[in-house]
Amino acid sequence: MTQVWQTGTMAVRAGESALRAHDALAVPVEFAVAHGYPDVPSWESVARGERDCPLYARNTAHPTALALEAKLAALEGAADAVSFASGMGAIASTLLALLKPGAHVVAGHDTYGGTHYLFQHTLPHWGVRVTLCDTTDEEAFARALAQGADVLYLETPTNPMLKVQDIAALARLGHAAGAKVLIDSTFATPMNQNPLALGADVVLHSATKFLGGHADAMGGVVCGDAPTMQRVRQYREIHGACLDPMSAFLILRGMKTLHLRMRQHNDNALALAQWLEQHPAVQRVHYPGLASHAQHAVAKAQMRGFGGVLSFELRGGTAAVQALLPRCALLLRAATLGSVDTLLGIPSTTSHVECTEQERVALGIPAGLVRCSVGIEDVQDIIADLAQALAGL
Ligand SMILES: *Cc1c(COP(=O)(O)O)cnc(C)c1O
Repeated sequence: MTQVWQTGTMAVRAGESALRAHDALAVPVEFAVAHGYPDVPSWESVARGERDCPLYARNTAHPTALALEAKLAALEGAADAVSFASGMGAIASTLLALLKPGAHVVAGHDTYGGTHYLFQHTLPHWGVRVTLCDTTDEEAFARALAQGADVLYLETPTNPMLKVQDIAALARLGHAAGAKVLIDSTFATPMNQNPLALGADVVLHSATKFLGGHADAMGGVVCGDAPTMQRVRQYREIHGACLDPMSAFLILRGMKTLHLRMRQHNDNALALAQWLEQHPAVQRVHYPGLASHAQHAVAKAQMRGFGGVLSFELRGGTAAVQALLPRCALLLRAATLGSVDTLLGIPSTTSHVECTEQERVALGIPAGLVRCSVGIEDVQDIIADLAQALAGL
C-alpha cells in the first residue's frame, strides 16, 4: 500500500518511520558518535559499507540527521539529501566538492553575502573562474554560459533585494553549456518552490531559517541525484561540517509545522508589503508577491507562495532607518530570518556583513534598506507596531 502524500503530510511524517522504534512519536536523538562491534569481521564489513550500520557520526551520520535528510529529499522530490552544520557548510562543501582548478562558475551578483564571498575570494583562490552576471538579465547569463561552464549557481528569491530568477529558463541555458544547475532555495522553502521539478540539479537550503523556523538551531541541507549527493557526502566526511544530533532534532521538530508556518508567513508578508507600499514614509517595497515587482510574473509561475521576507526603502535614507529600528517594540532587531518572530535587519549587519561598504554599493543594495522577515504573529499587530514606529520619524 503506497500512497503519495501531500506536502503537509510529508512535512509531518516523511523520512521518520524507519527510525522510530516501536512507533515512537518522535525520532531518537542519538548522541553516540560510534557503536560497538562484537568482532573484527562484522566491524570491517560495516567499514567497507557492506552493512547499513553506523560507524562514526562524521561519515555515516546519526539517525536524527538521516531522518532530516530523508524528509528534505521527499519534500524536494530528490533521490538523496546530505545535511550540514550550517547553510554555508552546505553551500561551500557542495561547490568545493563539484569544482576543481580551471573550472568555470556562472552566478548572479545577488547571492547571500557568505556565498558572494566564496565567489569573490575562496573559489578564485583555488583557481576556479567565476563570472558574476546581473541577477535578472537572462542575456547576460546566456553570454557568460556561451563560454561553457561547470556550475550555474542561482539564488531565488535573493537576499535582501528579493529578486527572482526564472529557474526553468536559466536551467535550460545552464544545461546547454554543460553546467550543473545549483539553486539556493532558502527563501522559498519546499512549500513555495521546488527547483528540481523546474529543471535544476541540486537544491540547497539554510535549515537555520524557515526549515527550523524558531531561530534555535543551525543547519544546512543539499538535495539532488544520488551520484552527486555521494560526492557531497564524501566531501563532508573529510571536511567535517556535519550536523549535530540536537540541531537535527530541533530542525526536524520545526519542520513538522513548516506547511502551517509558511502559509502564515506568506499571508502576513503579502499583507505587510501591500500596507508598506501605501505608506508615505516608504519609497519602495521589494516583495515578489506585489504586482509592482519586476519579476512578479515569473514568481507567480514558479512559486506557490511568495515567502516571508520583504525589504523596503525609507524616503529618509540611513538616518530614517537608524531612527526607525529602535522605535519598534514588537518587532525585533536580529541578524537572521525565517523565524516565527518578525525580525528587522539591515544589510550591513545581516545578509551582507561580509562585504565592505563599497561592495554593497557596487551590488546595488541601497543604504536606506530595511529587511523584514515577517513572522507568524497576527498581522494587525505587526502593522500596528510599524505604523507607530514610522509615525514618529
Ligand atoms: C542564511 C542564508 C545562508 C547561510 O546559511 P547559514 O545557516 O547561516 O550558514 C545561505 N543562503 C541564504 C539565502 C541565507 O539566507
